[in-house]
Amino acid sequence: MTARLVVGNGGQEPRELSVEPWADVHWIPPKQSSVVVTHSPRDSWPGTTRGDEPFQAHHRADSVTVWANGHCFHISDQDGNEILAGDYIPACPARPRP
Ligand SMILES: [Zn+2]
Repeated sequence: MTARLVVGNGGQEPRELSVEPWADVHWIPPKQSSVVVTHSPRDSWPGTTRGDEPFQAHHRADSVTVWANGHCFHISDQDGNEILAGDYIPACPARPRP
């Protein structure tokens, strides 16, 4: 399964986006959106005990933390171009292992 979460930055300054549980920090440019993508090999999301809950978001004054409840995460820009693949790709069930 694939889940996508669009996180927009409506402000004038870059906004911090943290992706947990990997503690990965990314900056969303002003007036743009970033897309957090997560995958799960099954019909459930292993990072949560509730069903149909691929993401959780915690908003603070100048940052947002997104918990991705799948096996991996990817960040792309609003056009779908992947801008962060990280070291987590070997754990991605949507891609063949090297
Ligand atoms: Zn993945």
